[in-house]
Amino acid sequence: MDPITFDGQVAVITGAGGGLGRTYALELARRGAKVVVNDLGGNPDGTGAASSPAEQTVAEITAAGGEAVASFDSVATPEGGQAIVDAAVTTFGRVDILVNNAGILRDKSFVKMSATEIDAVLDVHLRGAFFVSQPAFRQMKTQGYGRLLFTTSAAGLFGNFGQTNYSAAKMGLVGLSATLALEGANAGITSNVIAPLARTRLTDDLLGPMGDKLGPELVTPMAVYLVSKECTVTHEVFAAGAGWFGRAFVGLTAGSFPAAIGSATAEDIRGHIGEIRAEEGFMVPTDATNAMGPIMKVLM
Ligand code: NAD
Repeated sequence: MDPITFDGQVAVITGAGGGLGRTYALELARRGAKVVVNDLGGNPDGTGAASSPAEQTVAEITAAGGEAVASFDSVATPEGGQAIVDAAVTTFGRVDILVNNAGILRDKSFVKMSATEIDAVLDVHLRGAFFVSQPAFRQMKTQGYGRLLFTTSAAGLFGNFGQTNYSAAKMGLVGLSATLALEGANAGITSNVIAPLARTRLTDDLLGPMGDKLGPELVTPMAVYLVSKECTVTHEVFAAGAGWFGRAFVGLTAGSFPAAIGSATAEDIRGHIGEIRAEEGFMVPTDATNAMGPIMKVLM
């Protein structure tokens, strides 16, 4: 079996000082990529900063014979995002891969959540992904090649008590990736999303003894495949944890016209809600226009 390699390619990984990002950085470097190891080095709630986590990952890569450079900028500002991408272009001359992985948590039930707790989480996960992806995407367009990977969560895709800020940010990333997949298609740029489950400092308390079987390196193969040149899949969301891999998607039911067109009432909806919700025969739209399919069929 031919190995998947990254010789001559440059990867930027945000939040690569620990947890999942560190494993992505180590594995990409092992397979030949030059890596920008970005990490602000703060606490799980986003406070503080330190250079040691990024430096440590870089040291591990170089000790193993790989090439990497550390970046300590925060993803959460446009200047930080630009500086992270500049580090790749200045040091290694290009950006082939961007993994938006940096993350923090400020969990609180919705009634108790403060504006600061909403902003802090949206700033790192969602705005941060905009701020790093935009300069990277511009660079990838000029190169005619790129692989973008965003990090969502089951909490975003399906909801999780106490995580409205995080869920909203994480589902926002699915929309960001979907549109970038469309905008990048003509320039050889793919964009996908990963929903990991792994024991890291963010989940250690939550997972308990089950965490022993959820090492972050068990997620890494999916991330590495999705950012490889061999992967032409784009516009999709993949879940990974404990060596299990699956796909998540947003679907549209076949739906129903419960009454003559233009005459449906709330009572007609009540009478047909089962048919409207039924999952048999659903479609997975490729874009917003494609999603208009069932309506267009009748209007044509
Ligand atoms: P982690 O805390 O080990 O890694 C996150 C890294 O991001 C940290 O090293 C942190 O210093 C860095 N970071 C935080 N804010 C930053 C900023 N502003 N700029 C640059 N770096 C910053 O946790 P992890 O579990 O490895 O998380 C990685 C990603 O995976 C996150 O986006 C997280 O939301 C997501 N995720 C993790 C799980 C899981 O089970 N561990 C599940 C779903 C999603």
